[in-house]
Amino acid sequence: MHDDVQKILIDEAAIQRRIAELGAELNAAYDDEDVPIFVCVLKGAFLFLADLVRHLRFRHEIDFMVVSSYGDATRSSGIVRILLDLERSIEGRHVVVVEDIVDTGYTIDYILRNLASRHPASLRIATLLNKPSRRKVEVPLDFVGFEVPDEFVIGYGLDYAQQYRNLPYIGVLKPSCYSDEP
Ligand code: 5GP
Repeated sequence: MHDDVQKILIDEAAIQRRIAELGAELNAAYDDEDVPIFVCVLKGAFLFLADLVRHLRFRHEIDFMVVSSYGDATRSSGIVRILLDLERSIEGRHVVVVEDIVDTGYTIDYILRNLASRHPASLRIATLLNKPSRRKVEVPLDFVGFEVPDEFVIGYGLDYAQQYRNLPYIGVLKPSCYSDEP
């Protein structure tokens, strides 16, 4: 599996250091009275959420959403669908959407507009990775881990064809590991 990786962009220690910093930013932004809901966008953000919430010192809840994005290809279609919705209402609640990566912005833009229509008290975004070079829609990112170049990245929750999510670092696949499928 590690042999399939062409290069490591962000190593495990750097990811964990930055997540601790993001935890501190969140601890400064929220307190026990807010009880924000952290909305984890599955599947890619599951490790980020798990590591992030362990730094939080205020009461909070977590919930999950599944949205369709790329299928097995590496390019966005711009069409987003909710496959699994939140369990609880967010009306009047503080919400932090936890994403793995914002690329074109289509996915998070759709999620933001959808969640905003449910009248939360506030709505912010925490994303581990930001790929600004490919942005198609402007989205306000409140908590950002790292900017990455215009490359398809894998690891630390992010997949290629549902694999490589367990890599503890963010890397780039060897070209020979991509299937010929479009
Ligand atoms: P967007 O809608 O912003 O183009 O893309 C959002 C989703 O596409 C992300 O949540 C992620 O699932 C997927 N995605 C975008 N860029 C990458 C990438 O470089 N690697 C992987 N593995 N997934 C990506």
